[in-house]
Amino acid sequence: MKRDFKYVYGPVDSWRLGVSLGIDLLSQDAKVCTFDCSYCQLGRTPAYTTERRLYVSTEEILEEMAGLPEVEEDHITFSGIGEPTLARNLGEAISAVRRIRRRPVAVLTNASLMFREDVREDLLSANYVIAKLDACSPDSFEEINRPAPGIAYRDVLEGQIK
Ligand code: SF4
Repeated sequence: MKRDFKYVYGPVDSWRLGVSLGIDLLSQDAKVCTFDCSYCQLGRTPAYTTERRLYVSTEEILEEMAGLPEVEEDHITFSGIGEPTLARNLGEAISAVRRIRRRPVAVLTNASLMFREDVREDLLSANYVIAKLDACSPDSFEEINRPAPGIAYRDVLEGQIK
């Protein structure tokens, strides 16, 4: 029987994470992001957002995972179409997935919201946080990452340090 999966994808071979099963907690038709990176493989960001909200419930993720065929993944990775820390239930979803799957969990993030305590608290539920830093100055940050209004280079640095 063929099943369609909306929120879980892969497995994909990752040079950092081995065989990785992806989870997209955003799962919208268009990218949802705090950045509009000049190199983004998803194209331009249609509308910035910096507000965390619920896109896909944790129950929907667990239901889909229950229907997965046999997969021997090395990691489960929260990534997807945009910035995963924008999902308000990120921490809850990571903990729930770890309980049923017992695999290490990684989060790929652009680090734009890590200055927020609630985001760092959610990320603590993961085994690994892979946070990117593309720019070496406020000017190059604006040029490369084209952040949403209100997100400053120092916020990204401060978040990563914390
Ligand atoms: S942070 Fe990632 S998803 Fe967002 S614009 Fe940059 S490359 Fe694309």
